[in-house]
Amino acid sequence: MEAGQPTSTIRCLHCRYDLTGLVEEQCPECGRAFRRDDPTTFMNSGQFLSSFNRRVRGFGIALVKLELLGFSGIFVFWLWFGGFIAITLMFVGFVLALVTGAVLMMTGSPPGAIRRREKQYALLAMLIPPIMLFGIGPPTVPVLERWRNEVTIHRMEALIAEIEAFRRIHGRFPRDEAELLTTRGKAMPKSAWGDELDYHCDGDSFVITCWTARAHNFLAMIYAYDSRDPHRGIVVESF
Ligand SMILES: [Zn+2]
Repeated sequence: MEAGQPTSTIRCLHCRYDLTGLVEEQCPECGRAFRRDDPTTFMNSGQFLSSFNRRVRGFGIALVKLELLGFSGIFVFWLWFGGFIAITLMFVGFVLALVTGAVLMMTGSPPGAIRRREKQYALLAMLIPPIMLFGIGPPTVPVLERWRNEVTIHRMEALIAEIEAFRRIHGRFPRDEAELLTTRGKAMPKSAWGDELDYHCDGDSFVITCWTARAHNFLAMIYAYDSRDPHRGIVVESF
């Protein structure tokens, strides 16, 4: 212990206030008493530094955890909704992971096993975002895309069946979306991307369309059904 050395910096155990060179044996900040001849009543510079390092390390670890949590959230958001904003947020998250990981690695933690383990965690934290972005994302997106496409077509087919049922009862198609809504008693169905299906009727034919811009790869899709179409099929166009 270097407690006897008058030149070394000493700090309050409670509030870390610098007590070096004080005449009174009491902390002016929080009032805690200390005794210069008793090293257990204050903190020396080495103890202060290691407690500071612990705090910085704890902060770094918390930041990495928070960032990974946020990144996972954005990743799920991107898988479901796609789009430019989510990809940008993911890139920012990726950079954040790099920075926090680097900060964590450079932090002066004690040597030995703990430091090595922290370096491994930091490395892992840095690797997870690119693994998600390039490893899990690309194979998952087309699967979700196909599934959304099928769901949208099924919802359109169900709506077409409702409209045909209306005609069998009333001898005509619903005049407009308002009448269709009244008959259904609920809102118009939506595509699997969350875009509403539109209904237009011109007397003896009707059209259902759905335009979605939230598909991946900056792709917009149009789902269209025209009752005059001899094939009676739903046309899907992307551009
Ligand atoms: Zn104090």
